[in-house]
Order: sequence, then structure tokens, then C-alpha cells
Amino acid sequence: MAINIDWENMTENSIDEDLFCPICTEPFEEPVCANQCGHTFCRKCIINTFRTKSQCPTCRHTLTIDGFHPVTTHPFLNQLNKILVKCKWCSQSNIQRGDFKDHIKICTKIIIPCPAAGIYCDWQGQRDQMQDHVQVCPLVKIQPTIDELKTIIKQQTEQIRFLYRILERTSEHHKEIKKSIKVIILLTIFVIFIIIISNTSSSNRQLIIKNITRSVDHFYPCIAVLAEFRTVDHIVAIVHNVNHHIPSTWPIQIFHGKDNEAFIKNSTLASLITSEKIFLTYMNETYDRGRTNQLLTDPKFWQRIRGEKILLFQID
Ligand SMILES: [Zn+2]
Ligand SMILES: [Zn+2]
Ligand SMILES: [Zn+2]
Ligand SMILES: [Zn+2]
Repeated sequence: MAINIDWENMTENSIDEDLFCPICTEPFEEPVCANQCGHTFCRKCIINTFRTKSQCPTCRHTLTIDGFHPVTTHPFLNQLNKILVKCKWCSQSNIQRGDFKDHIKICTKIIIPCPAAGIYCDWQGQRDQMQDHVQVCPLVKIQPTIDELKTIIKQQTEQIRFLYRILERTSEHHKEIKKSIKVIILLTIFVIFIIIISNTSSSNRQLIIKNITRSVDHFYPCIAVLAEFRTVDHIVAIVHNVNHHIPSTWPIQIFHGKDNEAFIKNSTLASLITSEKIFLTYMNETYDRGRTNQLLTDPKFWQRIRGEKILLFQID
């Protein structure tokens, strides 16, 4: 059963009888020993036997295939390695079994496949005929190109896998990335803004800043507007009263002067200013009571009102 296809034994008569397998009656190949009864067989022989019955062929002990261990005793294996064999391919004789692996690598008559077998050349032949085949085999000629392409495909596949992993991570963290992109865009706009500003004359610079500040301000559909440049107590009561009567979505814009700014901010209107229900607009020009018409005809006043529909309140 374990008769080797590559070699035949030359010196069977002089081989120690303990080295023979009871199944194939040849010197052991890859000997394995039963844990329970200690009987030894070739690995292949006992596997074949166990296909039909799970018994030791020598003593009929019930065994399983797991109940064997490889024989590792050096003197025993050395004796097997020193057995002289003859190559069945090239008929070279007196090869020590332990050296046969080295012989088969250079044996001129062993049947080997074409070097391009991997790309479907199905030629097989003796090693010493290989050179003639290689001269005419078209697949051997294109093999280097194919190998190169395989390497490229392998690299590309790895790159695609790498990118795919990044994509997966990206989709997991796309919210964070979106946030980062927003920050980057804002920073970029800011940097561009700084560059433009630093390259602009000071008058144009003020104009740009003014326009940008205005565009950042909210513009409301409806707004209540008061203008008062004096420090008078009843302004606070009136604003509270107005706030009480207008819809909650309407803000109140108070135009004031330099003199009454601190007064308004420190009054009971402070919390409404903080919550942006009221916002203050400082006017350089002061308009006293007698000049109300002047205020109402001043384009600067109307430009600074931050609402579409305006409800204008007069203080007194
Ligand atoms: Zn055997
Ligand atoms: Zn046994
Ligand atoms: Zn040979
Ligand atoms: Zn070939």
C-alpha cells in the first residue's frame, strides 16, 4: 500500500526486520506508533486500514486514528534513512532514502509540468526535455508579462481595499468630517477675507467690514422701532408696554445716542437686550424732539432699520 512511486528498495535482504511495516511489508515510510499497544505502521498504511476497520492490524486492539503518534526515535529513523534505494525514473541506484528528496529535485527523467502551468500550459514531460519545450512554448514567453500584470493587479487590489477601508471609516465619521469641512470652509473664507482686507485701502476696508457686518445681522419680516436720544425714565416703561403688545416674534430696535446708552443698558430692559429681543442701534447724530421730522427723512436712519415691515413708536 505504501509502495513508493519514486523509488524501489535495493537491499531488502540486509534490512533489519524490525523496520518493515506489517501492512505493506516494505520498510516504514513516515512511521506512526499506536499509543495503546505500541505497534508501528506506515502513516498511509494505517489510514487506509482504518477506512474499513478501527482495529490494530497486529493485535486487534480497538483504536482510533487519533490514537497514533509519529515515531521520532533518532536511531530508528536513521536506519530507515540509510536504506539504499533506486530511482524509478532515472534508474540511478544506491541513493540513501534520506537523500532521495535532494535527488528528485535534479532527477533528469522525472515527469514535471511546464513552468507556465500556472497560466494553463498543460505540457508535461521529463526534466531533460523541458528545455526543448520552453523554446517553443508561447505561454512561457508571455509569462513575465502576465506575472507583471498580476503584481500590478495585486497592488491595485490592495490600494482599492485600503481606499475601501477609508471609505468605510469615512461613512462612519462623515458627520465629524462634515463638521471639519464646515470649519475649514469658514477658516478659508476668513483667510480670504483677511487677504482682501490687507490688500485694500483703509476707506474701502471700512466699507467692506460695514457691508459684511450688515449681512451678518438678522433682517426681520416685522419689527418695532423706537428712537430716543434723551435720558428719560418713561422710555423704559414704554418699551415694556410695546413689548407686551407686539407678537413675540417681533424684535424691538431702539435707536439711541451716546448720552442715554448706559442708561438703557442698565435699566430693567437689560434682560431683553441679552436675549436679543431688544437690540440697540447707536446713532452718531442726535435728534432732539423738535427734529423728529429730520430723523424720519434721514436715509441713514432707514438704512439701519433691520426689518421689512416697521411699526414706529413715538415716545411722547
Ligand atoms: Zn506500510
Ligand atoms: Zn497492536
Ligand atoms: Zn532519478
Ligand atoms: Zn509550456
